[in-house]
Amino acid sequence: MMRRRGRPGSTRAAGPPRLGLTGIALLATAGLAGCAGAGGTTLPASARSLSSTGAGAGAAAGTGASGTGQAARTPGAPPAGQRPGNVPLSTAAPTRTAQPLAGQVIALDPGHNGANWSHPAIIGQLVNVITEWKACDTSGAQTDAGYPEHAFTFDVAMRLARLLRAEGATVVLTRHNDDGVGPCVTQRAAIGNRAHANAAISIHADGGPSSGTGFEVIAPGRIAGAPDAPVIGPSGRLAADIRNAYHRITGEPYSDYVGTRGLDVRTDLGGLNLSTVPKVFIECGNMPNVGDAARLTSPRFRERVAVALEAGFTAFLDRHS
Ligand SMILES: [Zn+2]
Repeated sequence: MMRRRGRPGSTRAAGPPRLGLTGIALLATAGLAGCAGAGGTTLPASARSLSSTGAGAGAAAGTGASGTGQAARTPGAPPAGQRPGNVPLSTAAPTRTAQPLAGQVIALDPGHNGANWSHPAIIGQLVNVITEWKACDTSGAQTDAGYPEHAFTFDVAMRLARLLRAEGATVVLTRHNDDGVGPCVTQRAAIGNRAHANAAISIHADGGPSSGTGFEVIAPGRIAGAPDAPVIGPSGRLAADIRNAYHRITGEPYSDYVGTRGLDVRTDLGGLNLSTVPKVFIECGNMPNVGDAARLTSPRFRERVAVALEAGFTAFLDRHS
């Protein structure tokens, strides 16, 4: 779902983009059919210093994910720093296993949204992702049988949120249902930033060639002056930890059509370029591939995906706390 259309740098020499109405309409259409990687247009250098959130992000975000910036505290979990000393011993719950992720904030971004396809005017708005102007969001991929990527990503995110909260983490989500619109990729990054997340992930499944199989984890590439510049190193380490855990726990192969040994680096994804916290994307499999589709549509497999991602976060945060 996120095929490149040339590296961002490759078109910069061509001069400023001339985005007439036709061009914008084409980009919006491309955004509808594809994923976050489709429909990009190189931004002139003069525009790269403009607001990184881009016009329209807020409007779209407000339609489907109001309040998504609010951190959800685990029910029953003590506030940070609170000791159980004021609880009478006779009624105190017995000490169970430690919560290794207590105090950690993790931002989960389930890619796309269920009603994106029916709101082209909103998700087709162009937003500034530093290296390009891109559609606010896209409708995502699907299997040949019609199982949509947005449903996959939301289900995995819900499973993963449950696991992380059980380990004591505070989980922040970029959307709380699967029948809304957006938010824009710019807003998805901003939600993790506002939460000062210790780590973040955008969850996706690819819409690659049907012959291709496997997964890949995408880390942000270095862009001078971009908001994510200070977290390029940690994001790369997060990518490696997620890649290792995913490969080990799900048994899925590295993608055989994109990336290198399950890893890739890109500078065209707004969700990464605009992140000020360590963040990666994952393409959990390739939806048009028959074998991958069979697994992606299995609830049991999605639970394993969530377990794997939790393990990846835990490995990363163990070393960065
Ligand atoms: Zn996607």
